[in-house]
Amino acid sequence: MRLYSHGICYESPDMLTYEQALAIMAANIKPLTPGDVRPVNALGCVSAEVLRSDSAVPPFDNSAMDGFAVRATDTDSATPAVPVRLQVTGTVLAGNTGDAAASPGSAHEIMTGAPMPAGYDAVIPIERVSIERDHAGKPVAIDISESVASGSNLRKAGEDFVAGSLLLNAGQLIGPNQIMGLAATGIEKFSARRKPVAVAITTGNELTDGGTLRRGMIHDSNGPYLGAAIPEMGADCSGVFRIGDSAEELIDRIEALKGQVDLIITTGGVSAGRMDFVPYALEMMGADILFHRVAIRPGKPALFARLPNGTWFFGLPGNPIAAAVGLRFFITPALRMLQGLPPEVYRTARLNAPVHKKQGLTFFAKARASVAADGLSVAEVLPGQESFKIKPLMDANCWVIIPAELGDVQAGTTVQVA
Ligand code: AMP
Ligand code: MG
Repeated sequence: MRLYSHGICYESPDMLTYEQALAIMAANIKPLTPGDVRPVNALGCVSAEVLRSDSAVPPFDNSAMDGFAVRATDTDSATPAVPVRLQVTGTVLAGNTGDAAASPGSAHEIMTGAPMPAGYDAVIPIERVSIERDHAGKPVAIDISESVASGSNLRKAGEDFVAGSLLLNAGQLIGPNQIMGLAATGIEKFSARRKPVAVAITTGNELTDGGTLRRGMIHDSNGPYLGAAIPEMGADCSGVFRIGDSAEELIDRIEALKGQVDLIITTGGVSAGRMDFVPYALEMMGADILFHRVAIRPGKPALFARLPNGTWFFGLPGNPIAAAVGLRFFITPALRMLQGLPPEVYRTARLNAPVHKKQGLTFFAKARASVAADGLSVAEVLPGQESFKIKPLMDANCWVIIPAELGDVQAGTTVQVA
């Protein structure tokens, strides 16, 4: 049995449960300090304030159609048999000031989004009038064969947002939809927690990234995976590095990253073998190892530490599926904690078939979820759950989570899906 300075047992028979590991993370990881963010840069940030609009949208009454601005009263008597003729006295395009005046019996040609000239109170769409044009094609008069109600085809100022409309709650994650609203209301900046910045370091003397493999070597698949998956998990990935099985190399790399990232993710070298130098390197650096080894499958050797400068460190095992599980089930929750988001709530699905499982380990299984004929979600745990098997991952579209306390589970069991 080997003990780290802080006293958590490395070879302990009573390994931490997944839930205990998450609780240790939650007790340690404090949300990032909010800062000012511009809407264009806000994707993936989390609002730290209740934000309200200080302007109305639309900012002015404008036309919802290409057509003619009219005074509704001028059209009251219009019928197909006795149409009303209006003189077209001007044109308002989108972007014009639209400060033309409306005289009785007149109309203005108007485009979608163009401001409504004062005095007109309805728009009749172009396809509902008959137009008399001059030699240049410009409308000079229109015949209207139906009465138009006041307010037709108009978008009133403030109909979407009024000044004071709620835009964001504190703790709200910003997606493209929120960015559209923030931009429309002219928000210049607001207080938010930025996306955390993560870096990936793969370890292993056997790793290479291309070319012909000499015997004993393999392609590094975790590096490209992490480079692609980290941004999907809600962090900025500031780089992917690869080192050999060397504590010195790891320490050098971490020193070079000092102050640039919120969390460092390594793969490999974290199990109990002689070449598993990651815990040793962390001890050499004076890091606080908060847990090592969690009762999960795959990915049991996962390690979580705080570096002396406060950077978070996740040491994931090298087997590709163990690394993927670690990213999804440790790092994603950690990113949410850094942004002050509540724990994720997973969807559920029914298993299509029984699953063989060892009691005592939380099982994260490569799986495919789909919608069955009855409209409910069904999950299939894919064949080939070994943690070195990448091919089934290529067919997977989710993970099925089977809790530690369960052993074999029956077809039809409701499970969480992530
Ligand atoms: P380790 O956790 O370092 O003992 O590695 C466990 C297994 O994962 C070994 O078979 C490694 O060769 C493999 N492995 C480690 N790192 C990678 C990687 N970056 N890409 C693909 N396989 C890896
Ligand atoms: Mg290794």
